[in-house]
Amino acid sequence: MPHVVTRSCCNDANCVYACPVNCIHPTPDEPDFATAEMLYIDPAACVDCGACMTACPVGAIRPHLALTPDQAPFLQINADFYKEGRDRGTLLARVPSPLRVREGAPPRVAIVGSGPAAMYAADEMLTIPGATVDMYERLPVPYGLARFGVAPDHGDTRRVADTFDVIARQDGFRLHLNTEVGRDIDHAALLDGHDAVVYAVGAASDRRLDLPGADGIGTATEFVGWYNGHPDHTRHVFDLSHRRAVIIGNGNVALDVARILTLDPATLAATDIAPDALEALRASRVEEVVVLARRGPADSAFTSGELLGLAAAVNVVVEGDLSDPGGLEGAASRKLGLLAGLGAPGEGRRVVLRYFSAPTGLTPDGVLIGEELLEAGLVLSSIGYKGRPVPGLPFDEGTGTVPNDKGRVIGMDRTYVAGWIKRGPNGFIGTNKTCARETVRTLVADLNGVLIGA
Ligand code: NAP
Repeated sequence: MPHVVTRSCCNDANCVYACPVNCIHPTPDEPDFATAEMLYIDPAACVDCGACMTACPVGAIRPHLALTPDQAPFLQINADFYKEGRDRGTLLARVPSPLRVREGAPPRVAIVGSGPAAMYAADEMLTIPGATVDMYERLPVPYGLARFGVAPDHGDTRRVADTFDVIARQDGFRLHLNTEVGRDIDHAALLDGHDAVVYAVGAASDRRLDLPGADGIGTATEFVGWYNGHPDHTRHVFDLSHRRAVIIGNGNVALDVARILTLDPATLAATDIAPDALEALRASRVEEVVVLARRGPADSAFTSGELLGLAAAVNVVVEGDLSDPGGLEGAASRKLGLLAGLGAPGEGRRVVLRYFSAPTGLTPDGVLIGEELLEAGLVLSSIGYKGRPVPGLPFDEGTGTVPNDKGRVIGMDRTYVAGWIKRGPNGFIGTNKTCARETVRTLVADLNGVLIGA
């Protein structure tokens, strides 16, 4: 009875190291880890020990006989990953070697931000005996996007906060809330009091559409912040009085927003959605949410797992050519197959996934697609997050990241980055674990006088 990863998991790879037969891939040291939609269990190699289930922080792994109907497609999705055969290498996945500091007092590190990358960086740092971490968070509560980005109906994913609570309870960890670097404390003071500073401040802004009429339209990230009660976004007002809403872009954020706009409010009431958002959604007249993609179905930016989750929760209709252009493989081929296999929608609110529909402008009445006006009350752009400059650090406007070499900020002393401000807004919560580990290893190598990659 093989075990099965049952959704776009968090990719933190704890399961990889827990597995006694190295049957969960890609592992963090394999080249396709960075681009993988999720991790997959090889059904032919799984020995059914259940160690991965215990290790998974978000409850994404189940024995195959215990799958719910919504999870059943993942049995094949896991198996398909191994169709071409895969060299599992060593019997056990390669566990990174323990961190060591060569000499001197244990390191004292400041970490700015308290989202997933920050928490994983702290965890890695605290593996060094006697190390201390001071974490600075501008908001009154910690955990960043793990708290304010995950949709309220994704309760399992939110359970990653339990892992962060465990990290925060370790000796040597101190959390400073309501403390903004640049306002309450500056970089020089952080460096004075610590051996190094790690910025894990995420991508706090979003990319903007460069189209006529697009100035001032709402963004999906504002909407997500609103329904999750983010202190910066509670005062937004969204027009839910029209029967149609349009979301531009079709990544996982767009699907989250489309789902929240169409789910039965009674379902949302059982979650910890922000009360004001729930009230507004109860009064909503939105019947149809159109998710606009400028390219075709095989190029959808959402992951297969999130598409399956959407289709299990609400009616989904596809508008676009679903014929296979040939030559597709991996995630693109799977997405096309899943879209083509969607059943007929039932009654009630629906999400329309519309393809080959690049918007050309916005008017007060909706979205222009060439000559066509797609009427809508609410229009949200969902075309990706973007990092903001960090005071005193270099910044690449094009990528919205701080230029760095394996986490070391280029041209700066004892200063590092981790997470989205380091690599851009991509991946899942647990992807930040591998990213933060790389940064901390660079930092420790520098403390030890060994330049990584030199
Ligand atoms: P994303 O995955 O990068 O998707 C951006 C979308 O915007 C794409 O469809 C892209 O289309 C479109 N786009 C970009 N520029 C555009 C333009 N000028 N005009 C029209 N469309 C444009 O971004 P995201 O949805 O914000 O997600 C960010 C990251 O968070 C992703 O890694 C995502 O997987 C992750 N996330 C995961 C979950 C989850 O696992 N449940 C939930 C939320 C977010 P093109 O492809 O044509 O460029």
